[in-house]
Amino acid sequence: MSTNGSTASQWQCDRCGMTASQQGGEKIALPANWVNSDGGLFCLACRRERAAEAAIDEAPEGSSHKIRADLRRDAILGFEVTRDPERPNAVIAQACKSSVSAVASTRTRLGAPEAPARTRRRG
Ligand SMILES: [Zn+2]
Repeated sequence: MSTNGSTASQWQCDRCGMTASQQGGEKIALPANWVNSDGGLFCLACRRERAAEAAIDEAPEGSSHKIRADLRRDAILGFEVTRDPERPNAVIAQACKSSVSAVASTRTRLGAPEAPARTRRRG
């Protein structure tokens, strides 16, 4: 865990307002997959959304809805592939509501290594 050791009795996402806390108000470390960056504190869902928004922001003026949707999808796939490249394509596809082939081509595009053939369970 690399949460630089900080704990709080409650973490709140700056974007969606979702909170994470422990019953009883015990101090907890930043939840897994949350990020505490210069831009703020964000939950996983918002990190994904921010990746998508950043990509759409770079779309040329007047880009069609289709192009924006494609950029968004590619950004989310890229975010997930980069976040944890060891997850099998099928798992990432499910998380992104996308297809296994789309995940595979995203890996190729980003030069990310293939997931290990053997599924590794975490936790
Ligand atoms: Zn959030």
